[in-house]
Amino acid sequence: MSLDLDRADPLAPLRDRFVGAESALVYFDGNSLGRPLRATGPRLAEFVEAEWGGRLIRGWDESWFELPGTIGDDLGRIALGAAPGQTIIGDSTTVLLYKSMRAAVAARPGRTEIVIDRDNFPTDRYVAQGVADECGLTLRWIDVDPASGVTADLVGRAVGPATALVVLSHVAYRSAWLADLPELTRIVHDAGALVLWDVCHSAGSVPVQLDAADVDIAVGCTYKYLNGGPGSPAFVYVAERLLDELTQPIRGWIGADDPFLMGPTYVPAAGIRRMLSGTPPIIGMLALQDMLALVDEAGIDAVRTKSVALTSYAVDVAAELLDPAGVVLASPRDPGLRGGHVTLNHPLMREVTAALWERDVIPDYRDPHGLRVGLSPLSTSFAEVRRGLETVRDALDDLTP
Ligand SMILES: *Cc1c(COP(=O)(O)O)cnc(C)c1O
Repeated sequence: MSLDLDRADPLAPLRDRFVGAESALVYFDGNSLGRPLRATGPRLAEFVEAEWGGRLIRGWDESWFELPGTIGDDLGRIALGAAPGQTIIGDSTTVLLYKSMRAAVAARPGRTEIVIDRDNFPTDRYVAQGVADECGLTLRWIDVDPASGVTADLVGRAVGPATALVVLSHVAYRSAWLADLPELTRIVHDAGALVLWDVCHSAGSVPVQLDAADVDIAVGCTYKYLNGGPGSPAFVYVAERLLDELTQPIRGWIGADDPFLMGPTYVPAAGIRRMLSGTPPIIGMLALQDMLALVDEAGIDAVRTKSVALTSYAVDVAAELLDPAGVVLASPRDPGLRGGHVTLNHPLMREVTAALWERDVIPDYRDPHGLRVGLSPLSTSFAEVRRGLETVRDALDDLTP
């Protein structure tokens, strides 16, 4: 069954482009840290020899200075539905969230609230709380069911004339709930507020339509479905219509109008570069280029089609093998409401996860009792899904008296 699915999968041949594709290891964590591409090792070696070693400081003038924006534009075109000039590679997700939230609330003076949901990723919640404290604002929490996510109804009830900013995740990191980004954006705008979408768990697996949905700001990481490597820098998108209006609080020289003028005072750059602060981490953004090329080759819609097939297969296999052991699906059953992973709950999942790692099956564990099966579309096979979930069943058998 899984072999038939792999044979029929038009993207199956691309799996060989990843380091480790030949091993028997089952990788269910490409949504936390994507596998490297085979092209990436030679790219990094070549960079050290030819560009860093060969061009030295000249590299900044020749290409590095523009690289955060060039890669940002590619990312926008390939995966984010963003026209050029609005996306740039910058600091970590956390730092870009901070800069973006501060910029957003400053652009809505007189409004006193930031809205965020209680099941949002910890860093998003912590940063929002910090920004609220610093700026004398109130956090208004949306309570959500951890097995689903934020709905239009919940957002509609949370926003109003006091709302400055709403911070939401496109795909919930725990349940994989896929928020209705266009509809929720419309609701936030109707209240006169700005919206910041965290697209960490959708960028590279679920097509994002930032321009079409009229999104204000988006932030996402590049080491999950974009395979940029551990600690690769994040990206920020700011809609063109807001670029003049948003000024972020970390006023470094690289985000200034003319960095090499080294003038007496800070004037923000005219475009998206104003979201940067200091010297960009060039080496950290090189691997991302290889994955963007691969997603471009496959097409983001085809990537999503395979993602839906993989998660649907995982739901079916889990129902067959794990329902009898009392495992419960903690992700939406409807694939239209689900991102690229599936969470399976059972009271023993923490122990199961440890047992799986011993057997070269690598999922993630998320409280409460959740085994998170992340299925990076281009590097995961259907056979891998079957083998991994069979190992979950075996581990549960061993742990249950
Ligand atoms: C992974 C993730 C982050 C990570 O933030 P870093 O600063 O890159 O560590 C933030 N938000 C969400 C929703 C994530 O999934």
